[in-house]
Amino acid sequence: AHLARIEAVDEKVHAFLHVDREGALAQARAVDAKREAGEKLGPLAGVPLALKDIFTTRDMPTTVGSKMLEGWVPPYDATLTTRLKAADVVILGKTNMDEFAMGSSTENSAYGPTGNPWDLTRIPGGSGGGSSAALASFEAPLAIGTDTGGSIRQPAAVTGTVGVKPTYGGVSRYGMVAFSSSLDQGGPCARTVLDAALLHEAIGGHDPMDSTSIDAPVPPVVEAARNGSVAGMRVGVVKQFSGEGYQAGVVQRFEESVELLRSLGATVVELDCPSFDLALSAYYLIAPSECSSNLARFDAMRYGLRVGDDGTRSAEDVTALTREAGFGDEVKRRVILGTYALSSGYYDAYYGSAQKVRTLITQDFEKAFEQVDVIVSPTTPTTAFPIGERADDPMAMYLADLCTIPTNLAGNSAMSLPCGLAPEDGLPVGLQIIAPAMKDDRLYKVGAAVE
Ligand code: GLN
Repeated sequence: AHLARIEAVDEKVHAFLHVDREGALAQARAVDAKREAGEKLGPLAGVPLALKDIFTTRDMPTTVGSKMLEGWVPPYDATLTTRLKAADVVILGKTNMDEFAMGSSTENSAYGPTGNPWDLTRIPGGSGGGSSAALASFEAPLAIGTDTGGSIRQPAAVTGTVGVKPTYGGVSRYGMVAFSSSLDQGGPCARTVLDAALLHEAIGGHDPMDSTSIDAPVPPVVEAARNGSVAGMRVGVVKQFSGEGYQAGVVQRFEESVELLRSLGATVVELDCPSFDLALSAYYLIAPSECSSNLARFDAMRYGLRVGDDGTRSAEDVTALTREAGFGDEVKRRVILGTYALSSGYYDAYYGSAQKVRTLITQDFEKAFEQVDVIVSPTTPTTAFPIGERADDPMAMYLADLCTIPTNLAGNSAMSLPCGLAPEDGLPVGLQIIAPAMKDDRLYKVGAAVE
């Protein structure tokens, strides 16, 4: 049914870069055969899923939305892919994304944009716009995203779906193409809080192949999602997540959510987190710096695209020509910014200062979580904007992640879930819930209560 749905709508939505029809049917049949033989089935047996094209898959191409890796079929599965297969999930295919996960609209994909199923002329968010569009268009009931600065939560918000950025280290990064390694985090996308929890549990947990993986059990997210409640909880509202640039309908739905929390028995506490105002600036030094280092591996020699290798050119020239042809504008912008920020003489002023700000943000969160159990905010300042509107204005694009970025810098966990439609444009608004590190279960407890 999901393959038929993809066939019917994906020409318009363009959520998928690759649909593995035969592979998906074979996986589904294998699950049936197991069931008939009375064998033990995985926890998500037979459930179809759309996988962001940033996770390596041995039997499908992995492009990361870039020409640099067009047609590349990795020799190994990401740990997340292996865990999905062990859970007996049926992987439908790979979803569209901003190139190397850099963007907030999926317009930076080298393979063309994805439409928002609510209004195909608008963006589905980014970088994981393909995964959330697949959910919103009923092409898949489950999807996987990655969140470096908001790429799970912001697409969830603008497509009216649920997305969770687990605690940093909660889901393995092994086989997830690196953008900014100290921020990157894979996580679940779904249409309900409980579905997200079931997927979270299946993909989470320690992985010896990832040196930053947390060696502790997955927080009890499914149990929390089954027992939604906010009675007696302290919920923080941060002053810095408001003000100019927030759309009226977004603010209205957010304030209604706060009222709902109160009526369900939560105490609402106002919080001041002054360092959050610097989060965007710190992020746009740290993320490009790490990106410039991570993307150095695309040198045209080891794998992926190779341009101009006609026997007359030096290796250096081939690398340069390949990068010129293989990387899009936003990737080049970040690599240039990052190499500049890391260069000697500027390192302390830019990268060093950004790291200090990162510590201040972490401390603001620590102080906040002495007073409250969770923090809530709008996920994004606005609803889905028209395709093309911010394409030539990187600063306007970066503002889409104003509320999501502090969480990545601190490494704690956060969820976005729908909280109604904005009256002025009828588009979905997302409510963000933020919890301390390794308290991901709180997101689900609160999310299930207000869903
Ligand atoms: N939009 C942010 C960026 O462009 C976040 C991306 C992400 O989370 N992968 O960097």
